[in-house]
Amino acid sequence: MLRTLRTTALLRAQCKNYAATASYASIPQPQTSPDVLYTGLFVNNEWHKSKSGKTFGTINPTTEQTIAEVQSAGKEDVDFAVKAARQAFKLGSPWRRMDASDRGRLLYRLADLMERDQVYLASLETLDNGKPYSMSYNVDLPTAIKNLRYFAGWADKTHGKTIPMDGDFFTYTRHEPVGVCGQIIPWNFPILMMAWKLGPALATGNTIVLKPAEQTSLTALYIAQLVKEAGFPEGVVNVLPGMGETGAFLANHQDVDKVAFTGSTDVGKLIQLASGNTNLKRVTLELGGKSPNIILADTDLDYAVESAHFGLFFNMGQCCCAGSRTFVEDKIYDEFVERSAERAKKRSVGNPFELTTEQGPQVNQEQMDKILGLIKTGQDQGAKIVAGGKRPQGLPGYFVEPTVFADVQDNMTIAREEIFGPVQQLIRFKKLDEVIERANNSDYGLAAGIFTKDLDKANYLVNGLRAGTVWVNTYNALAAQAPFGGYKMSGHGRENGEYALSNYTEVKSVIIKVPQKNS
Ligand code: ADP
Repeated sequence: MLRTLRTTALLRAQCKNYAATASYASIPQPQTSPDVLYTGLFVNNEWHKSKSGKTFGTINPTTEQTIAEVQSAGKEDVDFAVKAARQAFKLGSPWRRMDASDRGRLLYRLADLMERDQVYLASLETLDNGKPYSMSYNVDLPTAIKNLRYFAGWADKTHGKTIPMDGDFFTYTRHEPVGVCGQIIPWNFPILMMAWKLGPALATGNTIVLKPAEQTSLTALYIAQLVKEAGFPEGVVNVLPGMGETGAFLANHQDVDKVAFTGSTDVGKLIQLASGNTNLKRVTLELGGKSPNIILADTDLDYAVESAHFGLFFNMGQCCCAGSRTFVEDKIYDEFVERSAERAKKRSVGNPFELTTEQGPQVNQEQMDKILGLIKTGQDQGAKIVAGGKRPQGLPGYFVEPTVFADVQDNMTIAREEIFGPVQQLIRFKKLDEVIERANNSDYGLAAGIFTKDLDKANYLVNGLRAGTVWVNTYNALAAQAPFGGYKMSGHGRENGEYALSNYTEVKSVIIKVPQKNS
């Protein structure tokens, strides 16, 4: 076996890809004040007000101003939406009678409509979430659209098996939809998380009640209208904006067959408990992380510094798979610290509608305060700040400076708790076995990264790391085809890829007695 993996050329090419991802020269200008068209509850392909009349404000994190008041779904509204989804799931309904390939065609149409409205949707996402428009337009939208197309293709290609069962039987399996699915999504990738949830559920014939995060409901509501325009029958996709309690009503509902959740580990536990306390609904969870990113001394240093920076600071650090424990081999540690600090200081922070901006605000005040609190804890526990550390002066909005900590020890809070912000922890290590043990010494197991030119070392680490995704010489590479999900307290079930389909299907064994004699 080749001992040395000659990846330098490949690594350089990938570096260029990052530049292409972040490129802004060729993208259309954003709409800096996109119209907010929908703020209601979407049930049975119609817009409704909440029965209680309650609303909540959605805030622009760049200006701290309220963008719009959104209807807040209460218990009665959840009952109403679940009933609509149940009706749409009944045998004989247009959705259940539809050919699988036609379900796929509807998903393709939805993807096409999102592509038609890409500038508007990317602008609305930036307004509501604060992420740079260059990213919403170049990353979130294309990835979401591809995801829907990937699952559209699966609609008529997922099927059971014939089985050589002992005895005189003809035995086969059917992959049937689970039923009414509650889908509860977070605020860090609102459109993309919606696509990850809708694609496999609809391809396999389920019906849906989706709850977007209260911080970022606007794009989900616009996409609901596109669902109607695409031609999905009424009741197949219902979207209920609301607070956490709306999610809890769904998770505790006796007539919901499955809940798919992406969010914090604490809420994930509640959702699993709710299942146990009610009807044992199926549960899939994609939760938090504290992912190790391991940099070996033989790596291409420029590329590894840039990749580790990207692996942590992408999306303002608001990624469940962020490489938030960067383990750097002793021999290159000091230089890595210096270069990482330089890179962080150059990161452009500001108005997310400016095409050159790399970093916008955090999603809300609560997140910003939590991050600033953890930075203080890091300092108090003896880690050294080599870049950033504060809220930038003179900017409204929930901004946090790109922050790099050196001399981080494994037992410090910043090395154990998910920060979900632009704060990089650089940790020193010496030996491979040592770093495997330390990397695995976490409640989480969502993702990991490895940077090396040595294939044997890469394989050794890949086998040793307990994580649902391991990236080698890259980070944050996510696509519709590759499964994504966690070990340990990062959740269970896999999104994306063929594996995602099994989260949305029940397997039915059909066993038919076959007489062996001709009569
Ligand atoms: P974060 O702390 O990052 O906001 P959460 O896990 O609280 O993440 O939120 C993710 C999603 O879960 C959001 O849509 C939120 O409204 C919803 N949620 C919050 N609390 C609950 C709950 N108790 N039951 C169900 N869903 C909830």
